[in-house]
Amino acid sequence: MDFQSVLDTIAQDALSMQDKGQVATYIPELAKIDIGKFGICLIDNKNDIFSAGDTDEGFSIQSISKVLILAKAFQLIGDDLWKRVNVEPSGDPFNHLSLLEQENGVPRNPLINAGAIVVCDVLVSKLKNPKKDFLQFVRDVAGDHTINYDTSVAQSEKRTGFKNFAAAYMIKSYKNLENEVNEVLDLYFSICSLALSCRQLVHVFYLFMNHGKCLQNKNHLTVNQVKRINAIMLTCGFYDEAGEFAFEVGLPGKSGVGGGIVAVLPNKYCVATWSPGLNKKGNSKLGMLALEQLTTKTGLSIF
Ligand code: GLN
Repeated sequence: MDFQSVLDTIAQDALSMQDKGQVATYIPELAKIDIGKFGICLIDNKNDIFSAGDTDEGFSIQSISKVLILAKAFQLIGDDLWKRVNVEPSGDPFNHLSLLEQENGVPRNPLINAGAIVVCDVLVSKLKNPKKDFLQFVRDVAGDHTINYDTSVAQSEKRTGFKNFAAAYMIKSYKNLENEVNEVLDLYFSICSLALSCRQLVHVFYLFMNHGKCLQNKNHLTVNQVKRINAIMLTCGFYDEAGEFAFEVGLPGKSGVGGGIVAVLPNKYCVATWSPGLNKKGNSKLGMLALEQLTTKTGLSIF
């Protein structure tokens, strides 16, 4: 498969698109990002890497990090996690609150904000230094010790993340939060601020295409854990656009409001895109188009 020429065509097409969507402005620091950025990077099962565009520039991965905290929490407490968060798609935007009240503070899934807040609570309870230990986990999985949080993005969201405070207090009122709201959200805003390039993202997510084994050949998750997490990415990774993403692209994946998307085809490849302009559902507009082209042109999707 000539991935390089496919990626070159995709990048060219993306750069020529007039309508690139809108950058997220509700986190003030994200509003500063240049909407003209576009990158795509793919690693295949022989560990060959193909890329086009801005693939080495770090960006805020935002909700993509929800998959990584889920992996860490699953590793720490196993199936007990599912007593505190469900695994059904919500069909609602990522920051929606009404289902949370209807369902007694048990979030629909770990990839919406409310679910990720519960997962952060698990990490606060179980890790000695939650921020430091989680960062170490991401660095180990990537084999890259330069990965870090962007504190200006975390601070920026802390000042304006009112809906996340509302979700956390609601969850706390239903006794599904063991720790203090401020402590849990401090971790949540930090994990959302992780700054990675497309190249670093495919290094981190490699283990989801490779049955839990990272590029350094170390097992971080079991085959069964990866099966479950990939299923959650497929059904919940794009909020109320999960159906559309499965229909258009056909891969388990996860988006973030920083404009990143990462997706995997188990045993075959892991791909990341970055284009900061979002569509109305909060997913990268050109990123989705690019991945649709990738799976259509190569004929390689889970279907
Ligand atoms: N930090 C963002 C928020 O809580 C993450 C949302 C996203 O990337 N979809 O609103």
